[in-house]
Amino acid sequence: MSYTVTLIPGDGSGPEVIAAAKKVVEATGVDIKWEQQEAGAAMIEKYGTPLPDSTIESIRKNKVALKGPVTTPVGTGFRSVNVAMRKIFDLYANVRPAKTYPGVITKFEHINLVVVRENTEDLYAGIEHMVGEDAAESIKLITRKGCERIIRYAFEFAVREGRKKVTAVHKANIMKCTDGMFLDIARQIAKEYPQIEFNDSIVDAMCMRLVMHPEDYDVLVCPNLYGDIVSDLCAGLVGGLGLTPSANIGVGGAIFEPIHGSAPDIAGQHKINPTAAILSASMMLAHLGESQAATAIEKAVTEVISEGNTLTQDMGGTASTEEFADAVIAHISAH
Ligand code: NAD
Repeated sequence: MSYTVTLIPGDGSGPEVIAAAKKVVEATGVDIKWEQQEAGAAMIEKYGTPLPDSTIESIRKNKVALKGPVTTPVGTGFRSVNVAMRKIFDLYANVRPAKTYPGVITKFEHINLVVVRENTEDLYAGIEHMVGEDAAESIKLITRKGCERIIRYAFEFAVREGRKKVTAVHKANIMKCTDGMFLDIARQIAKEYPQIEFNDSIVDAMCMRLVMHPEDYDVLVCPNLYGDIVSDLCAGLVGGLGLTPSANIGVGGAIFEPIHGSAPDIAGQHKINPTAAILSASMMLAHLGESQAATAIEKAVTEVISEGNTLTQDMGGTASTEEFADAVIAHISAH
């Protein structure tokens, strides 16, 4: 079986982690033809947009993309390329696993949870405007369809992955219409999955519980903004942004990317940790049905990290991005 996958290196440190992930995927022997495309601020001068039509068309055709992070200017400038892609391809489910790896020093052990974040609605859609000069308004728009499909996705994911529990995260005590609807729908859908334990938590209490007893949680399903924040918190619990991959799954395709940003402070220094990008590529292979190759990558990453000889700086080592990727490849080849 051969596949064509859109490859978007991104900017900042993005090209470094994507090159590492690509090399690791190639070491598994899965036959992938990469269609390299561009996105980001540097494209504006060339195409008048940070997200060129050729990139959109490539994803539309291939339905699968591996993407590096793209810088988004804060406050002003163009809208996020990521938010635009999620809208265009209706990538409604953002799946963000957070797992502890033996060898990474963290405050907790045995965390293995997954944040399933709604990816298209909520305050994150950025529907906002100034009200005169001294006030600004942002609209939190949540639909029944949006809630139903993300909550159903979370339960189906739990069943498919052999997970035991789904927790709905909300602030329905205050936002009774929007988050209230999300919670009502979660309670309804939970009844269809009696084999999966269900509970819910207010987002602020959830954050406290996560930093005290993260091992109590399994799958968290969240509206967009809480999912964004809670998943970074979970990344922190397991050792930082360098370790956490993600999948954006939707109607028009699937885009796999590390959850970290373009890390401009270390760009070009070959010290960025490529684990998140490599594990995103592993999730991509699982999505393509190449579960053996996906597992081989995860196993190799786990072994390299637990051996502790070839770690990047954020994990307490001195290895470069490329040395880490080469160590993962050596482990894949050894099996
Ligand atoms: P960031 O994730 O880029 O960096 C935060 C800190 O973590 C930095 O000190 C960075 O060096 C470090 N870091 C991040 N990933 C790392 C890794 N893999 N290994 C080692 N250290 C790592 O967050 P930021 O600085 O807030 O954002 C930079 C830019 O990236 C912004 O323009 C932001 O909008 C954008 N961004 C893009 C995406 C995306 O494209 N998916 C996601 C988040 C942020």
